[in-house]
Amino acid sequence: MVKEFSVHSRNEYLSLASNEFYDLIVIGGGITGAGIALDAASRGLKTILLEKNDFSSGTSSKSTKLIHGGLRYLKQFEIALVREVGRERAIVHRLAPHLVTSEKMLLPLTEDGTFGKLMTSVGLMVYDILAGVESADQRVMLDEKETMEKEPLLDRDEILGGGLYAEYRTDDSRLTIEVIKTAVASGALCLNYVEVVDFSHEGDIVNGVIAKDKFGQKNIKISAKKVVSAAGPWVDELRSKDGSLQGKTLHLTKGVHLVFEREKLPIQQAVYFDVHDGRMIFAIPRGKITYVGTTDTNYSGNKNKILTEHKDAQYLIDAVNNTFEGIKLTRDDVSSSWAGVRPLIHEEGKSASELSRKDEIFESSSGLISIAGGKLTGYRKMAERITDLVFEKLNQEDGRKFVDCKTGKLHLSGGPFENEDNVGHYRGQLVKTLALNNIDPYYGWYLTATYGRQSDSILNIFEETKNDYEDADLALLIAELKFSVAQEFVTKTMDFLTRRTGRLFFDISSVKKYGEEVIKCMGSLLNWPEERLASEREELQEAVYEASEIFKQ
Ligand code: FAD
Repeated sequence: MVKEFSVHSRNEYLSLASNEFYDLIVIGGGITGAGIALDAASRGLKTILLEKNDFSSGTSSKSTKLIHGGLRYLKQFEIALVREVGRERAIVHRLAPHLVTSEKMLLPLTEDGTFGKLMTSVGLMVYDILAGVESADQRVMLDEKETMEKEPLLDRDEILGGGLYAEYRTDDSRLTIEVIKTAVASGALCLNYVEVVDFSHEGDIVNGVIAKDKFGQKNIKISAKKVVSAAGPWVDELRSKDGSLQGKTLHLTKGVHLVFEREKLPIQQAVYFDVHDGRMIFAIPRGKITYVGTTDTNYSGNKNKILTEHKDAQYLIDAVNNTFEGIKLTRDDVSSSWAGVRPLIHEEGKSASELSRKDEIFESSSGLISIAGGKLTGYRKMAERITDLVFEKLNQEDGRKFVDCKTGKLHLSGGPFENEDNVGHYRGQLVKTLALNNIDPYYGWYLTATYGRQSDSILNIFEETKNDYEDADLALLIAELKFSVAQEFVTKTMDFLTRRTGRLFFDISSVKKYGEEVIKCMGSLLNWPEERLASEREELQEAVYEASEIFKQ
């Protein structure tokens, strides 16, 4: 059983990993691997998860951050997919209502738009039915005036009306880390910066992995009855190492999002709007910023470094300028961005946007099980299918008794909250406490949406840090850092500033202002030598440059 989830115990966990015998090794600490680790551990399987970088550092920190049914997949008649992910939205919301919050989406109707008025009305109704949306939350069709009231920045001359429908918004990285922490609480061992470099076999059958500790530079062998690869865009590399890369393969498509300060793109409502090339993109207000995305283009570059390029940024900026009245953004207005790739399944003759978002399971003759495709939203169901399959195999091999999936009722760490009203009440209390310390109410929203009830622990630490730092915002950030180092396996500065807090994307000015203080504090918490401090500084500068500058030249 794992005691604490902190880098302080890393060496102890690595030696545990090489000495124990597991039921299941999960490769990949994105949402898919996290979901599988949680499902398997909560059903009593002895589980270890290995992630080569930080948790969620692959696609699972680069999505549109919506827990959605995927309205546009209806157009492609992907009924089963829309039904499954549509229904999953409400479940994931129930499991973590502080982190997966309802967000009404406005679909403006224009003369040349993708959907006409009747099609939109029927389409949204079908969407509601498939997703089992409660009647109070079902779609509402709006006339021109009502649409403009919802979003006054739309171009009045273009708007014919609109559809307003239910979606959910999240932070993909936080969702992944909370699923991982819940898996750890259920008994799984989850390690970041441990890369699977090979498989071990008994005869022709996979019986474990060879993994490289990225800090210790040594390889360890980890043994298990079953190995599942949830390596996202890297699934084919691992299938190749296993000698089983046959049949269907991955098709990677790149998606970019841009972030603007709220004043630069002050929409009051999330909007899903048409682009001149027949695609649709989202503009979503969140805290201090509005983000816009996504692009969808074929990708064959370096999967470990996916960058926002000049042409990606310009495409999104043109789309925004053409849609919102009086908005004339340029690349210089972009405050941050992120770029990722979708690990989709290749289908001959289909363009990036036409490829199915369905997940696919590959079983190799060695026993390696791989899963790719799918959506953030569907992680729980994907995990259930994989864990069912693992149980089926274990049953055939050693008579293991099947245990039913439990994750539909397992609240994620950060809760439990009964519902959104409960969350609102908690947030209200936080705002009051923060006001006593002259901290902006924004942080009440931010802490609740990021950590849920774990904000209580952060505020306890803040009682100490506020005596060490004159700047209350910095004292709060350091309290978050201490919490995250102790309880969220933060190993590098950018784990914290990008994936635990989302600050690189949603509050980049705080990263620029306080990054050095964060490095110094981590250095003293983790006894970093000078060279490590220097490399952390370099990584921070590089991350800021790549998120906010690289596409501006
Ligand atoms: P990843 O998150 O990439 O995780 C795989 C992990 O495996 C990585 O962290 C990687 O480092 C690790 N790994 C690889 N090789 C090894 C190895 N050898 N050893 C150890 N670890 C290894 N879905 C939605 O539901 N809603 C959305 O709004 C949405 N928007 C999207 C927008 C964009 C632009 C993109 C690209 C995707 C979007 N998706 C969305 C889809 C969703 O983000 C992905 O389906 C999901 O994040 C994939 O998760 P994953 O865990 O399979 O892959």
